[in-house]
Amino acid sequence: MPELPEVETTRRGVSPHVLQRKILRIVVREPRLRWPVPESLGEALPGQRFTSVGRRAKYLLFECSRGVLLAHLGMSGSLRIAPAEEPPGKHAHVDLVFDNGKVLRYTDPRRFGSLLWQPAGAGEHPLLRDLGPEPLGGNFDGELLYRKSRGRRTAVKPFIMDSRIVVGVGNIYACEALFLAGIHPARACGRISAPRYRRLAGAIRAVLGKAIGAGGTTLRDFSGGEGRPGYFRQQLHVYGRGGEECPHCRGSLRERRLGQRATVFCPACQR
Ligand SMILES: [Zn+2]
Repeated sequence: MPELPEVETTRRGVSPHVLQRKILRIVVREPRLRWPVPESLGEALPGQRFTSVGRRAKYLLFECSRGVLLAHLGMSGSLRIAPAEEPPGKHAHVDLVFDNGKVLRYTDPRRFGSLLWQPAGAGEHPLLRDLGPEPLGGNFDGELLYRKSRGRRTAVKPFIMDSRIVVGVGNIYACEALFLAGIHPARACGRISAPRYRRLAGAIRAVLGKAIGAGGTTLRDFSGGEGRPGYFRQQLHVYGRGGEECPHCRGSLRERRLGQRATVFCPACQR
């Protein structure tokens, strides 16, 4: 599943090819994504130019003067740049055709992703309104985690994966960050001190920053904006390594389900 680093890698990969390029037309071969592709896109986009390609949580925001095209990659979606003459694959559901002979191609075998339209002047899209801060932005730190966790009994791992607290901390990154911070994933979030949350916030930033630098984690499902796979998985400390040796203490890493997600940790190093 594309996580925040893959989405950011996509943003960086496709931006230079589409920014300020005139959109000639949109080709929708299959409108049935998680929500139907809005028919209004066919009227709104032709003749427009994207002035920025941003990201909020796992949404890509393609902005032009008439509004914002929101793209979410769902479970198996990808956006890449292709030459206009390249025949679409079986699951290439939508193309945006530009005046430079290139198309921005949305491919999604499982169709859990979405393309949505928010007209200019309509404010922030409802899907974005209740989201917590960006983990790599200036509004996220250990103080925020400490404050929001007081009086709560939730385990710390689902707490940091809650997008109302902070966005983009997927399962892999939560496991890695908790290991680096030495915090047990099942510990009640309301019982963790401010200094430990400062360490955890730093670890979350470090893990996500490193994953973005490597182009994302998922080797199988994901190709970067220009078709390059990510190599971050090879650098993981604990995720996918249940039963293997802890890289710190040489004890055995343990795997269990927590909030229905596979969770790997070291019972000796994480408390
Ligand atoms: Zn250990």
